[in-house]
Amino acid sequence: MDSGNDKGTRVSQPPPYSEYPGPAPQPQTYVAAPVVMPVVVASRMGPEPTPFVCKSCHAQIVTRIETKPTTKTHLFALLLCVIGCWPCVCIPYCVDSCNNTNHYCPNCNAYLGSYDS
Ligand SMILES: [Zn+2]
Repeated sequence: MDSGNDKGTRVSQPPPYSEYPGPAPQPQTYVAAPVVMPVVVASRMGPEPTPFVCKSCHAQIVTRIETKPTTKTHLFALLLCVIGCWPCVCIPYCVDSCNNTNHYCPNCNAYLGSYDS
């Protein structure tokens, strides 16, 4: 006994109306920026012995420096060789600005930072 009168009674519902009441007013909370005291960053030191608090032994020390030739130093020397300035080859190794200055703690020999000009 199929009446055949079974029409699809699916009513296409309209999309539910958005109850969203517009953009909510966002409270402007200004978070006070915490005042951060400037911290001496160990990675940026000068080419000279610097007063510093050692990270290892926490002593107030003046760093002990060691200058070491860097790749740039060797490149300068090589360049001087190439252009024929043999007597000048040693100059890059003598000029501090061509060398890397490493800072060490005189107490515990901890590496504290370096200065690369
Ligand atoms: Zn130390």
